[in-house]
Amino acid sequence: MLDEIDAVDWESMPGHPDWYEPDRAADGLRALAEAANLVQAAEAGSRLGVGGIVHGHSATVFPAAVVAAPLLLDIAQQGHPAARATALGLLEETLSCYPHAGYTRVAAPDGTAVPICCAIAHHLRDRADFLVGLGKRGKSLLAAAAVHWRFEIRDRVADGGDTAAFGILAGCLPDGVHAAEMHLADAITELSDITLECPPAEGSLEACLRVSARHPGELPPGTMLFPAVCGDRLH
Ligand SMILES: [Zn+2]
Repeated sequence: MLDEIDAVDWESMPGHPDWYEPDRAADGLRALAEAANLVQAAEAGSRLGVGGIVHGHSATVFPAAVVAAPLLLDIAQQGHPAARATALGLLEETLSCYPHAGYTRVAAPDGTAVPICCAIAHHLRDRADFLVGLGKRGKSLLAAAAVHWRFEIRDRVADGGDTAAFGILAGCLPDGVHAAEMHLADAITELSDITLECPPAEGSLEACLRVSARHPGELPPGTMLFPAVCGDRLH
């Protein structure tokens, strides 16, 4: 775990210069990975929680939290029980905090810029089995992640003036009409009106959405949709 923490260039992560302290991110994660009791875990947690990956007092989250999320999950899986509790608490905090203007997104592998909260939620879903196995606390973390849904369009057909889009839904899109941000290549545009037509069946992620007043040519396969409210989260 220490090698993976040291492999990250925390200094080069974007973050508000008055608030983000890269040393705290690196040292805090290292200390949490090595913590062997409650006091050590708490001290490591406070380095991470005051300028490292979040600033708890001002409820701010930094882009570094996205890189830290899988490392915190490793610590929760392999570390001391006290370190696990601290890691889970920090992950909860990263989802409830808001970013500063100018530092709200991280680059996804496909080149799009995803809101910090949605990128962290994706890391949490990657470890769903582990989190479910933890019981109540792990499940509540997954529930917090679920509102940061994402939908990848695989196929679509015209339906009147609308488009029926078929694809893969991760997380949970509630009933009703929602605004979404559409990521296509490196451009982000807003869709004001999407509705879940067919939710995924048990054990599947395949779903169908209705996208109002858009034609299929505007929604090619590979297009990703995210909640528009997440892009608006800001201090
Ligand atoms: Zn989000």
